[in-house]
Amino acid sequence: MHKRRINLFPCGIIIAAGFCACVSAGAKNDNGLLNYNHGLLMAILWQQNSGEYSALCYQAFNAGKAYIASLPSQENKAAVFDIDETVLDNSKYAAWMVVTGNPWGAGTWEAWCKAGDAYPVPGSVDFAAYLAERGVEVFYVSNRPDSTVESTIANLKKFGFPQADSGHVFLQKDTSDKNPRLERIRALGYEIVLFAGDNLDDFDSAVRRLPNQERRNRADSDAGSFGTYRIVLPNAAYGTFESAIVPNYYGLSMEEKARSRLKSINAWEP
Ligand SMILES: [Mg+2]
Repeated sequence: MHKRRINLFPCGIIIAAGFCACVSAGAKNDNGLLNYNHGLLMAILWQQNSGEYSALCYQAFNAGKAYIASLPSQENKAAVFDIDETVLDNSKYAAWMVVTGNPWGAGTWEAWCKAGDAYPVPGSVDFAAYLAERGVEVFYVSNRPDSTVESTIANLKKFGFPQADSGHVFLQKDTSDKNPRLERIRALGYEIVLFAGDNLDDFDSAVRRLPNQERRNRADSDAGSFGTYRIVLPNAAYGTFESAIVPNYYGLSMEEKARSRLKSINAWEP
């Protein structure tokens, strides 16, 4: 068994002390709350340490098993998995951002993907194997850069993910829109009966680049799909929810991003 919980922080006491200083200073202390990586610490702490994170992942995959078992036939059926925070846990990369103060970067992200050091999300290997054993073809459709396809396949294979090969792992070559890759799977003769992902974009291209209110409206109107043919994994560390808070989020400076995040929360005013 892999060990998900990693003793990350030889300098943990220093970080904890810094974090507490931010919190105790309250909302008036912009220096703490506007630190770009401030929010990541709790999200990664939760992902790497909490039983609740594991339980939510198991709950998601258990729902997927029940849905697949309810289908009258699994013939010519396919399941599409996102990879990051759906089957592979990249929290060590995010933790590196926290402890070093570095932002996400295309170069460091590529290096992380090529290192093949991601652990499986709890329950993901078992669920993928469950599908493959029942004849459901398993595809992995991810917006990792295509330059990392060999190391990504190796990372998946290391933990026993089924059908982890170049015929089933489709990374991003041009557009981040997954629809053309889904069409490629359908052109092979498969009906896609289940999606697993941590981002609404994994389920529905129509929500891409929509502001959060519209994304939430979409989730409300699609409520019955989640836990049936759409299996949602928890990810509080990153996602489109962040860039969807304001237009042109990625064009902002780090401080502007942090400031827009702070403005987007709904605080009690006693
Ligand atoms: Mg993902």
